[in-house]
Amino acid sequence: MAALIDYGSFYDLFKQGGLDVTQSDYDSFSLYAETLCEWNERMNLTAITDPLGIAQKHFYDSIYPFSLLIVSRETPLSLADIGSGAGFSGLALKLWYQNMDVTLVDSLNKKVGFLQAAAEKLDVEVKCVCGRAEELARTEEYRESFDVVTARAVANLRVLCELCLPLVKVDGKFVALKGKDAEVSEAKGALRTLGGEISQVLKYRLPDEDERSAVVVEKIRETQDRFPRSFGRIKAKPL
Ligand code: SAH
Repeated sequence: MAALIDYGSFYDLFKQGGLDVTQSDYDSFSLYAETLCEWNERMNLTAITDPLGIAQKHFYDSIYPFSLLIVSRETPLSLADIGSGAGFSGLALKLWYQNMDVTLVDSLNKKVGFLQAAAEKLDVEVKCVCGRAEELARTEEYRESFDVVTARAVANLRVLCELCLPLVKVDGKFVALKGKDAEVSEAKGALRTLGGEISQVLKYRLPDEDERSAVVVEKIRETQDRFPRSFGRIKAKPL
């Protein structure tokens, strides 16, 4: 069985979000889906393996919210995807926004191994980093160094703010991809403490009607040196 729905169906799916997929885009997504399914037999990367599920819940879900924020596919931005796992949303975004300077971060070695192999197969240049976000944020190289930091399905928003906001440049953005519940009210204190301000909460549906939110946070001030704390502290005493 093919790993992805055919080009016509994939085109129609993305068209529902106003996105025009070319044959060459499709070929890349298809190769990504194939590689994902192949590796998924050896290690646990995703529970979603049906061709339509991969198209909607991985590719569309990764790209559609960003298409509302970054209209031109040529925009050059630096973006870090924290807890990238099998590459959602960061590696999928790189296929859509080819001038994006993408860094994929995951704390698990084997996931980073997959990301490297997939990027190589797809012939795209992305930086794959094995590490914990809160530790990278304490290094000079990564702290406040990205235009955009994003994360999907890594932690609740309150905790995620402390993992991600220290990596965002002042005037940059943190975009959290969430389910129906955007978890905004519990995260207000953390956002303020870390120098963030919510600019918008996008509410939308996938083509299969599943409800999603994307929380867009503007970094308005530098993050104080004492953040992020160790993961133990972040979990035990969330801001
Ligand atoms: N974003 C992907 C994967 C979600 S699973 C998707 O939506 O499909 C969460 C991933 O985050 C796991 O691969 C885990 O190893 C990683 N992770 C969890 N905490 C992290 C941290 N503090 N820093 C970096 N990666 C982390």
